[in-house]
Amino acid sequence: MAQDKLAFIREDVEQLKANSLFINIRTMDSPAGAWMTVDGRRVLNFCTNNYLGLADDPRMKEAAKAAVDRWGVGPAAVRSIAGTQGLHLELERRLAAFKRVEDALYVQSGFCANQAAIAPLVGKEDVIFSDRLNHASIIDGARLSSAKIVVYEHCDPADAEVKIRENLPNFRRGLLVTDGVFSMDGDIAPLDKLTEIAEKYGVLTMVDDAHGEGVLGQGGRGIVDHFGLHGVFDVEIGTLSKAFGVVGGVIAGKKLIVDYLRQKARPFLFSSAVTPADTAACLAAVDLLEESEERVQRLWDNARYFKEEMARLGFDTGRSQTPIVPVMLGDAALAKEFSRELFANAVFAVAIGFPTVPRGLARIRVMNTAAHSREDLDLGLAAFETVGKKLGVLKINRVT
Ligand SMILES: *Cc1c(COP(=O)(O)O)cnc(C)c1O
Repeated sequence: MAQDKLAFIREDVEQLKANSLFINIRTMDSPAGAWMTVDGRRVLNFCTNNYLGLADDPRMKEAAKAAVDRWGVGPAAVRSIAGTQGLHLELERRLAAFKRVEDALYVQSGFCANQAAIAPLVGKEDVIFSDRLNHASIIDGARLSSAKIVVYEHCDPADAEVKIRENLPNFRRGLLVTDGVFSMDGDIAPLDKLTEIAEKYGVLTMVDDAHGEGVLGQGGRGIVDHFGLHGVFDVEIGTLSKAFGVVGGVIAGKKLIVDYLRQKARPFLFSSAVTPADTAACLAAVDLLEESEERVQRLWDNARYFKEEMARLGFDTGRSQTPIVPVMLGDAALAKEFSRELFANAVFAVAIGFPTVPRGLARIRVMNTAAHSREDLDLGLAAFETVGKKLGVLKINRVT
């Protein structure tokens, strides 16, 4: 019999299943909102990154529909050949103005933005200083550049400085890159201190603000605005797929750099432009964000309330400083069971374990949004209390 070429896949899948690491992908049957239909059940949604509730916004949907009539369904070309439509340029101008930076480049996704932005700036003679907990798309973007990657301890500017001093003299130039808001813990990178150190040594600076876009800074202008680093910070990566509720990535910052990326970034040169419908919906999102800061306020009010009430119940919400709330449980099997029990109580919140987070630090991750009402949050809190008591995470007789 012929050799089984695919045996390695069967074996690996069995291993994943044996270690509870196999991903069961649920199916959504409704738009992303406070409530969603998931695998046929109506549940309270704590899983999507729809921070401002824009994913199903009527004005954005109208803008997308109108764009289809005016511009068609696809640009049928890469940006650098024939794919750049007026809509793309308008969005780039509006994003740059919104974020108070010189220029912005709109690409296909946040993941793609990291593949686009890093390689043109550093190559095999250079060194990248990267936070230990950086997102996979930064890690892959860094690998693509062929630069040496030196990891510094999580959110630790002192360690970053030690690593820069040790390594930079052996290379042509350096780039420091960090997540803005870390997606599994909800903590914020100390961008002011990191920037100060990078500037001291002449190291380029890049932040991936996927979870800070629409969340941090005045009216959701992002982490560079939050720390007031306009004009100093080099490159800010963002996504339009989370708070903006649509899809796409943005590379924002100094005009010299952004213009250079238009010449060099491979996903810009070799992968087709984002569709008119998506681009128009993103433009409508910028309109909404510029018109009112009310959604951003509501997001933070909800996050504050939820965290306070969880602490009152006796849950450990880790080091969260943002609407991302990890509910620390420790054991991976316990976290999975907790998530299943929540779902049985009509609450959708996923368990996250190794290798996404370190062993022994498994958790449930709750994404707060502006779409949730106080009533929704109270319902969610009640479910957490019920399941917490049932699984022995909370003491039954605790006085609250
Ligand atoms: C989600 C995320 C991305 C990917 O963004 P997409 O627009 O979904 O591709 C990139 N970086 C970080 C830090 C993220 O959290």
